[in-house]
Amino acid sequence: MPISNRSRDVFDSLLFFAFVAITALCLSFTFSMMMYQLGVPTNPRAFVLTNLLISACVALPTGVIASQHEFRLKNYQRRLEALAATDPLTGLYNRRFFKQALEDEVQRMRRTHQTAGLVMFDLDHFKCINDRFGHKSGDLVLQEVASAAFAELRGPFDRLGRWGGEEFVILLSNVTLEQSALVCERIRERIASLHLECRGQDFSITASFGTCLLKPGAQIDLALETADAALFQSKNSGRNKVTARRAVELAA
Ligand code: GH3
Ligand code: MG
Ligand code: MG
Repeated sequence: MPISNRSRDVFDSLLFFAFVAITALCLSFTFSMMMYQLGVPTNPRAFVLTNLLISACVALPTGVIASQHEFRLKNYQRRLEALAATDPLTGLYNRRFFKQALEDEVQRMRRTHQTAGLVMFDLDHFKCINDRFGHKSGDLVLQEVASAAFAELRGPFDRLGRWGGEEFVILLSNVTLEQSALVCERIRERIASLHLECRGQDFSITASFGTCLLKPGAQIDLALETADAALFQSKNSGRNKVTARRAVELAA
């Protein structure tokens, strides 16, 4: 969980604690006022002491328990949010969350007038790895590839997701098509140079890339189709390649 989220949760819990404690304090004051009105106890010192005792017994534990509960709920909610957004095998964004990130980026681009790169890449002949070494080894290769691609990206600015199977997607913020193709080229080289090993056998893997330019107001489905068509072109022209396509039109 990012630090900012955790400190926000702590702050919210403290706020909640203060709210509950003050409410309980008011209730105990009301109660002791009623007791005072009824004449028990009769002297002010005893009234103050009784009130403090009731406050300490009611307000503090109630506040602590309630804020702890609130903190746990927040934590649980964040874990659920993370699970809903993450692909369990690679830890990358899943398709649903990536699409949401894409929509958010297009909205942001309307304000900033920047462009972005959308990338799709697919591992070449991945089925052979599963057939040769088994599904578990295939899973490990997917994790290695995910880490390799992630290492080439710019932290929080770029987003990497698993589109499904052995296909990945990347959103590169504030880049031109040429820059997007260069990043693809770097990732392609990095994946191809991975030294993979299974059952004492060394092997390597390559990936084919398609990228297109996202302009402000771009239609997301059209952009995804364009990147996919570029990826298809890389596959058809021999694999282990990057193809860039410019054509994502502005929305009407
Ligand atoms: P191409 O170069 O044309 O992309 O060939 P390919 O073999 O990579 O593609 P194909 O679509 O024929 O096979 C994809 C394989 O990916 C088949 C499927 O079993 C495997 N696969 C999909 N998801 C997973 C997964 O989560 N783990 C593992 N180990 N394999 C997966
Ligand atoms: Mg493939
Ligand atoms: Mg595929």
